[in-house]
Amino acid sequence: MKAICITAPDDITLTRRNKPVPAAGEIRVKLHYVGYCGSDLSSYQGRNPMVGFPRVPGHELSGVIDALGTGVSGTFAIGQRVTILPYFNCGTCFACRQNRPNACLNNQTMGVQREGAMAEFCCVPQTHVIPVHNLSQRDTALIEPLAIGFHAVERARIQPGEKIAVLGVGMIGLGIVLAAQRKGAHVIAVDISAHKLEIARQLGARETINGTNEDVTTRLSALTGGDGPSVLLEAAGSPHTFRQAVDAASQCARVVYVGYTKVPVEFETRLFVSKEIEILGSRGATRDDFETVTRFLEDNPACADIIISRIVPIDQADQAMRDWAANPGAITKILVSLLGPENNDGATA
Ligand SMILES: [Zn+2]
Ligand SMILES: [Zn+2]
Repeated sequence: MKAICITAPDDITLTRRNKPVPAAGEIRVKLHYVGYCGSDLSSYQGRNPMVGFPRVPGHELSGVIDALGTGVSGTFAIGQRVTILPYFNCGTCFACRQNRPNACLNNQTMGVQREGAMAEFCCVPQTHVIPVHNLSQRDTALIEPLAIGFHAVERARIQPGEKIAVLGVGMIGLGIVLAAQRKGAHVIAVDISAHKLEIARQLGARETINGTNEDVTTRLSALTGGDGPSVLLEAAGSPHTFRQAVDAASQCARVVYVGYTKVPVEFETRLFVSKEIEILGSRGATRDDFETVTRFLEDNPACADIIISRIVPIDQADQAMRDWAANPGAITKILVSLLGPENNDGATA
């Protein structure tokens, strides 16, 4: 079968692998769409310390059940449309014992610490296969990346009418924009890309601030009657925005960090106390988040058209990654199609 492989930093190629055979309790999925995650871009650029090489990337996906291993539940059937929960938790660490599997100490995510799904087929345990009934295969591939933002909004405990700010509106930030509106928030989107801010606005952000030519903290204060946002969600992953979130926060705000910085960050810690802020981390997503996003996309089918930048066949997926690395600000989401050109689910390539 065809598979995309990152063999080393700056080296991505189309390869051939043996078609996997499902072991007992496993399901083989024939992939239809697999999205490139920002973590796949980091892996390609050699900036993802969690990844080992060579690595098949990909954990945002849709497909159909193609084969069942022995002992798989009768609720699964060949041809069923599914996505996959791509996180593998250990089940025994403190987080797992607290029923917080997304924060597992020993988590392995497909395409990062274990082999990913950017291939024609993959096998996973049946416990990771989630049937999807009413979404197109194309839109199903957006469930996982949007779920990361939806999880962050759950962490933020947003109340209706709150003015909240999202720092960084790449894919994760856009999920936050959508999930926060769903909670009734007034969303202010901040980024340094005019293109990404325009997408955030199309998805419902009420105000946008471009950090390249505006003073973000001053604008956030002005837009909130001098108080500052009561919730800030950081999804850019830079030391500057990590600090900005605390600086711009209102008294008693919640600050949620989803981004990963590559370097240590210095804070004015006095503000933690004087503002009595809550600082929260948000990691990955849960099965509940997947279900919430699935219902959201069913009810809001126009969102996917706005989010997806480009769909390429697997034969061009290596070049698409090189293009993304050359111009990250221009692209929100690349989907790789494993379908033949004759049945591309209505999507344009
Ligand atoms: Zn991802
Ligand atoms: Zn664990």
